[in-house]
Amino acid sequence: MKPLRVLIVSPTEEDAAGLLLELRRGGYEPAYERVETRSEMAAALARQAWELVISDYSLPRFNATMVLTLLKKTGHDIPCIIVSSTLGEELAVAALKMGAHDYLLKGNVARLVSAVERELQEAELRRERRRAEASVKHQASHDVLTDLPNRTLFKDRLTLALAHANRYRNMLAVLFVDLDRFKNIIDTLGPAVGDRLLQGVAERLASCLDEGDTLARLGGDEFVILLPRLQRADKAVKVAQRVLEVLKPVFLFNEHELHITTSIGISLYPYDGADVDTLLKNADTALYRAKEQGRNNYQLYTPAMNARAFERLAMENSLRKALERQQFMLHYQPQVDMPGGKISGMEALVRWRHPDLGLVYPAEFITLAEETGLIVPLGDWVLRTACTQARIWHKAGYPQLTVAVNLSARQFQHQGLTDTLARVLKETELDPRTLELEITESIAMQNADFTHVVLNHVKEMGVRIAMDDFGTGYSSLSYLRKFPIDTLKIDQSFVRDLTSDPNDAAIANAIIVLAHSLKLKVVAEGVETAEQEAFLKAHHCDKLQGYLYNRPLTVEQFEQLLFQGDGTSIPLAI
Ligand code: C2E
Ligand code: MG
Ligand code: MG
Repeated sequence: MKPLRVLIVSPTEEDAAGLLLELRRGGYEPAYERVETRSEMAAALARQAWELVISDYSLPRFNATMVLTLLKKTGHDIPCIIVSSTLGEELAVAALKMGAHDYLLKGNVARLVSAVERELQEAELRRERRRAEASVKHQASHDVLTDLPNRTLFKDRLTLALAHANRYRNMLAVLFVDLDRFKNIIDTLGPAVGDRLLQGVAERLASCLDEGDTLARLGGDEFVILLPRLQRADKAVKVAQRVLEVLKPVFLFNEHELHITTSIGISLYPYDGADVDTLLKNADTALYRAKEQGRNNYQLYTPAMNARAFERLAMENSLRKALERQQFMLHYQPQVDMPGGKISGMEALVRWRHPDLGLVYPAEFITLAEETGLIVPLGDWVLRTACTQARIWHKAGYPQLTVAVNLSARQFQHQGLTDTLARVLKETELDPRTLELEITESIAMQNADFTHVVLNHVKEMGVRIAMDDFGTGYSSLSYLRKFPIDTLKIDQSFVRDLTSDPNDAAIANAIIVLAHSLKLKVVAEGVETAEQEAFLKAHHCDKLQGYLYNRPLTVEQFEQLLFQGDGTSIPLAI
C-alpha cells in the first residue's frame, strides 16, 4: 500500500468515502481531510503538505474554480482532479484551463486511480525540473567549493548597496582578503588540502560578519567582504582586525597543522570610489600595500585614513578604560557677578588625564564619548562629582556658590537622566537651586516635545537650566518662551570681537536685551579683556566668565582663591 496525503473537497462524507474506497482498491493508503469551504481549505493547505486534491465541481458554498484559484494564489503546485456528476464538455475545458489536471464523472470513478498515478508522476517531474533550475541558478551565482557568492553575485550586491548608500548618504566598505603564501601550501601539500583550507577559511570569515554583510569568493584564495551601511570608517577596520584574529588559530587537517595569515585591503565609498569597479580596484591596491608592509595586516586605500582610523580606535579603547581607571577630573571656572565682581559660582569642565597624551580637553573626546555611548556614564560621573564638590564648598562657608554642569545631546536623550539627577541631589544633599544644567540649542531642538517634558521635570526638582553657546545654533525665539530656561550664555564667538566688530557688539547687546525682557539671566563666556568687560558691564550682563578672571581651575586652585579673602575674584597665575 502506497501512502497518499489527499485533500478532498466534497459536500458529504459519502462522496469522500466513495473516492477513498477507489483509491484503496488501487493500492493507496490515503490519509485525508475533507473540507467544504474556502477557509477550511486554506487552513488545511497551511497545515499539511498535500500530494493531491480531489474536488467536487460544485458545492453549496465553494466550487472547483475557487479551489483552483486558491491553489494558484497560495503557490501550491498540487495536482487537482475534479469530480462532477454533470460535467459538460464546456465546463471540463474551462476547468482544465483554470489549472485542473483532470476531471472525472461521478459515475466513472474507476478511472480515478490511473488519473492519480499519472498526475503524481507529472508532479514529481515538475518538482525535479524546478530543483534543477534552482540549482543551475545557484551555481551560476555561487562558488562551488565554498558555496559562497561568486564575483557576479558580489558585484550585484555591491551595485545595490551603492545605490542605497548614495541615496541614504551612508558609507560602505569593500574588504579584499587574500591569504598569505597560499601557493606554498598548495605546492607542498597538494590541492586537496588547499581546498579544505579554503572551506575552513570561508567558515571563519563568515563568523566575522553581521547580517546584511556579504562574503564572496572571487577565485583562488581571494575573498571579498562587503559591509553596506557603515556609519563610521573604523567599523571596517574593526572587521579587518577580527578577520586577522579569527584566522590565527591553527587549522587541523588530518596530520597537517596549518598556520595561515592574511592581508586585507579596504576601500571606502564615497572616499575611494563611487562605482563597483573602482572600489574593487582600489581595495586591491590597498591589499597590495598590505602585502608590501610584510603581510598579516590591513591597509585602507587612502593612507591618511589609516592613521586617522587607527588614532580613533586607540582613543576609543583608552576612553573606554578611562572611567574605571579614574582618569577624568573636573576643572572649575569661576563665574563673576556684575557689577560687583565677586565669584558667585563656577562651571564644571571635564578633563582627561591621559597616561600618554597628558591633559586632554573635551573638544578631543566628547564627540567620541557621545558616539560610543560612554557619555552617559561619564556624564553621570561629572554630575555627581560636581555636586559633591559644590556641597563641600557650601559647607565650608560658601552656601551660595552655584555650579554649572554641561549636558551633551545623548545624555539629555537618555531615559535615566532625571532619575540620576534626583539620586545625585539626594545623595550629595546639594541645594538644587545652586545647580544649573547647561544644554545647547541643538539639543533642545532635536526633539522639542521630549525636551519640554524633561526640562519641566528638571525644573520641578528646583534645578536651573542654562542655554549654552547661545547664538550659534537655531536661536529660535519661540523655544525661549516655550522651555523653562533660566539663563542664556552668550557664545564666546560674539564676545571675542565685541570691541572690534560692531555686528558682534549688536548681537551681544540684542541677546542681553532679549534675555532680560524674558526675565532670564545672561552670562557672557570667553571674556578676556578689560574692554570686553567694560562693554558687557555697561550693557548690564549679569555674569561674566573668562580668562580675564580665571582659567578653569583645579579644586586646590579654586580653594586657594576662595579661602584667601573676600571672595573677590583675583586673577591667578597658572
Ligand atoms: P562650554 O560649555 O562653552 O565651555 C566653555 C569653554 O570655553 C571651556 O572650554 C573653557 O575652558 C573655555 N573658556 C573659558 N573662558 C575662556 C576664555 O576667556 N577664552 C577662551 N578662548 N576660552 C575660554 P573647554 O573646557 O575646553 O570645554 C569645551 C566644551 O566642552 C565646553 O564648552 C562644553 O561644551 C564641553 N564640555 C566640557 N565639559 C563637559 C562635560 O562635563 N560634559 C559635556 N557633555 N560637555 C562638556
Ligand atoms: Mg558650558
Ligand atoms: Mg559655551
